[in-house]
Amino acid sequence: MRDPNCIFCKIIAGELPARIVDEDERTVAFLDIAPATRGHTLVVTREHVADLLSVDREDLHAAIVASQRLAGRIKQRLGADGVNLVNSCGAAAWQTVFHFHIHVIPRYEGDPLRLPWIPAQGDADEIAAAAAQLAGA
Ligand code: 5GP
Ligand code: ZN
Repeated sequence: MRDPNCIFCKIIAGELPARIVDEDERTVAFLDIAPATRGHTLVVTREHVADLLSVDREDLHAAIVASQRLAGRIKQRLGADGVNLVNSCGAAAWQTVFHFHIHVIPRYEGDPLRLPWIPAQGDADEIAAAAAQLAGA
């Protein structure tokens, strides 16, 4: 399925230009138009689904395997020192394009990116309460 108004669907269909660097039966990977660092790549499913919660499991598997493939190339060919995989699910989590994708972000020693949270000791009771809510099927 595709969404006629979706930027990523148009890229997959060849209707919008993009720097495609990898493709398989279920995924396409291309460079982000506004890269966080050099080589910032987006792995998208060929199928149009909004986000992590709606993506087909086989597509999700293919997307994470493609992300691993890209991460290896990014380290080998671009000389990156590390890689972050990022997925934003929902506007509150910074998602702006509602077609499932994984950011593969090359990391270079001394690059300007910073953790989006400030690590600090958590409240043990609150952690336990959250665990109780999340545990189980
Ligand atoms: P999100 O904010 O949904 O996690 O990520 C969407 C990403 O898509 C952003 O990093 C943004 O720069 C990228 N993007 C938006 N429009 C285009 C486009 O037309 N072409 C490409 N290559 N990337 C795009
Ligand atoms: Zn789409």
